[in-house]
Amino acid sequence: MTHSVTKGLSKLSANQQLVFDILKAESGPLTAYEVIDRVRTGSVWAPPTVYRALKRLIDEGLVHRLESQNAFLACTRSHQSEAWNIFTICENCGATQELSSDDIATRLKDRVAENDFLVTKMTIELRGVCRTCTNPKIAAT
Ligand SMILES: [Zn+2]
Ligand SMILES: [Zn+2]
Repeated sequence: MTHSVTKGLSKLSANQQLVFDILKAESGPLTAYEVIDRVRTGSVWAPPTVYRALKRLIDEGLVHRLESQNAFLACTRSHQSEAWNIFTICENCGATQELSSDDIATRLKDRVAENDFLVTKMTIELRGVCRTCTNPKIAAT
């Protein structure tokens, strides 16, 4: 596991920080509409502002986009490359976790390179059931 990517928290604007904090507080991904819903309270937030903030956070590697759901979640890992992302998604409650993926991504990339293909972006979404949903009694205690 490496920590080579320096994440630019200090450079975030107040808007970007707010969107990041909203995503960090969630256990699952939020769509852009859900983010807009949460920031709308009492301020002058326009959807383009939210989209711009999301784009910047993705560029900074602080937030990932889940392709299948067109939804966003805060990054919980450090990456060799921001372009390799692997997630587990609970089909029951929607809880989403990010896996440490650098070793897997490197192996996949090498394997694909044997076929003369250059991978520039990879998002793997693994679907199943989280521990809480497998055994609600344990989670409740
Ligand atoms: Zn991440
Ligand atoms: Zn679950």
